[in-house]
Amino acid sequence: MTATVETHEFQTEARQLLDLMVHSIYSNKDIFLRELISNSSDASDRRKFEGVQQPELLEGNPEMEIWLEPDPDARTLTVSDRGIGMSRAEVMDLIGTIAKSGTKEFVEKLKESKEKSVSSDMIGQFGVGFYSGFMVADKVTLETRRAGEATATRWEWSGEGTYTLEEVERDEPGTSITLHLKETDDEDGLSDYTQEWKLRSIVKKYSDFVAYPIKMNIERTEVERDEEGKAKEGAEEKTIIEAQTLNSMKAIWLKEKSEVSDEELTEFYKHISHDWNKPFETISAKIEGTLEYRLLLFIPEKLPMDQLYRDAKLGLQLYVKRVFIMDDCKELVPDYLRFVRGVVDSEDLSLNISREILQQDRQIQRMQKGIVGKVLDSLMSLFDKDRDRYLQFWKEFGRILKEGIYLGGESKEQLLGMALFESTEDDSKLTSLAEYVLRMKPDQDTIYYMTGESRTVVENSPHLEAFKKKDYEVLILTDPVDEVWAQSTPEFDGKTLQSIGKGDVELGSEEEKKKDDEERKAQEKKFETLLECLQKKLDEVVKEVRISNRLETSAACLVGSEGDLSPQLEEMMKSMGQDMPKTKRILEVNPGHPIVEKLQGMFEADPDAAELSDYADLLYGQALLAEGGQLKDPGKFAKLVADVMVKAL
Ligand code: ADP
Repeated sequence: MTATVETHEFQTEARQLLDLMVHSIYSNKDIFLRELISNSSDASDRRKFEGVQQPELLEGNPEMEIWLEPDPDARTLTVSDRGIGMSRAEVMDLIGTIAKSGTKEFVEKLKESKEKSVSSDMIGQFGVGFYSGFMVADKVTLETRRAGEATATRWEWSGEGTYTLEEVERDEPGTSITLHLKETDDEDGLSDYTQEWKLRSIVKKYSDFVAYPIKMNIERTEVERDEEGKAKEGAEEKTIIEAQTLNSMKAIWLKEKSEVSDEELTEFYKHISHDWNKPFETISAKIEGTLEYRLLLFIPEKLPMDQLYRDAKLGLQLYVKRVFIMDDCKELVPDYLRFVRGVVDSEDLSLNISREILQQDRQIQRMQKGIVGKVLDSLMSLFDKDRDRYLQFWKEFGRILKEGIYLGGESKEQLLGMALFESTEDDSKLTSLAEYVLRMKPDQDTIYYMTGESRTVVENSPHLEAFKKKDYEVLILTDPVDEVWAQSTPEFDGKTLQSIGKGDVELGSEEEKKKDDEERKAQEKKFETLLECLQKKLDEVVKEVRISNRLETSAACLVGSEGDLSPQLEEMMKSMGQDMPKTKRILEVNPGHPIVEKLQGMFEADPDAAELSDYADLLYGQALLAEGGQLKDPGKFAKLVADVMVKAL
């Protein structure tokens, strides 16, 4: 067969990644082998998995093995598998281009960093996989045959911005990747990648748990020996080549806790998560009863970068009786625990379970409940026993965990109890709701909070004035998700949760409240006609203008009615494409403020004074600005301010 060799260009990003890998000064180049073995293991999983539906893919009942074939003379190392393989189109698609947004981001990051060094957590976070081979090779050959197809493809790259493709023959489905190791890096010990001891140690370190045997031919010499074990006189040395399995393949989640070292756990975690850091927490459990399963779960130290992307890999690995079923099984963890990684091995599920069935499967739902329980219990015990460490976790994942509060379900209360917030009490500490409750005043039955863009915006907002004066603690909620859960959480531990930007504010003892109320009524009477006038002028934006008892120094502020959506939440829903009618707010004015007094004077002198409209707009505009809101017509507002200044100067 005379095959034609075609030359193709790398897609731009792929080429950039390639260049960066080739020139990387990343010191731990060993990981290339872990990446290639992991790809082989994934490909073997896929062939077995797809073979359940299409038995012809497993024709001949092949043993899924991964082979390392070093050749010190040729300075090559080949990694082969009997996995699913790739069709020609897949080779072009998967190897020649970078489709994953995360990897594009990775390239961007690398380009930014001056020294062009590939830092370890970058590789960890993005899993550049196949491309890591380019750190140690100046030529890479890949031969692959997709299971179910008759012909194979050879892909080759030898240092330029192009690669070649060629149709070849290959006896079995699967993939072989041959790295032609760089000559120049001998001082780095790179030639060691053809040495048995080196390969053995890398496999042991990174790939010991891979579920398939990683094999290598080992050469040893043997002499005929007598009964005492001594070499027989004149006996010739024979060279024997023997296949050896380099990894233990032992499913670590089956071992007893005492049998597993922290190091093993860490390596396993890195293997399944592609994270470079140690796991922050490890949770293992054996659940028995009507459903039996084992868990080995990890909470990462850092929020993985790729969780910010839409195509992020989330969820757990699902095994059934030690047989790998699928990666990224989202149904096993609720969204608010999406950062949890790990393995669940069930004794009861069917091997044929498909992604479609998963969603309605009762057993899966019960397992999810069990998993949530274990994870939250473990976090709760950290919360109780080691607040500093918990805080470290919370800073990284708190905003994700808080999603669980509004997604509700049975864990809502527990999650509320574990949540930490900023507060006006102490700007150096976060507080839990329970701790807030302990500090509440004797006559206080409400937990007050204020949402806003930042601590500063909240601290300077007029809404806080009365609370400051009367020394009431207010929680400061600055995550966008706070808007959402707070709206759907009326109480905690029998105490009402109330936004200080909404409804009426009544602080102090019954007596004080009564007094405040009477005072307000009197003021309302006094300013009745002015309030009506302002209301008419601002009718488009506010539903009511009223006397405030939350203001001390500011002239006005905007508040919502009890059940109203906050403006931030309204914005959020709109940005998600929801058609939201605009909720009008309430303008509260401070009867003790000179502006209000003077407006009253102006109104009494001439109820139809043209300036009243401008002043109404100014009052509304500054109230909106004070809470961090955005003016609809900033130009007009600026002009009004300028006019007032001219008059005053
Ligand atoms: P990742 O493994 O993170 O997806 P890679 O760059 O390592 O990224 O690989 C890209 C794709 O190429 C893989 O998702 C897989 O589809 C395919 N691939 C890589 N190695 C193999 C292999 N040994 N067998 C089959 N497919 C492979």
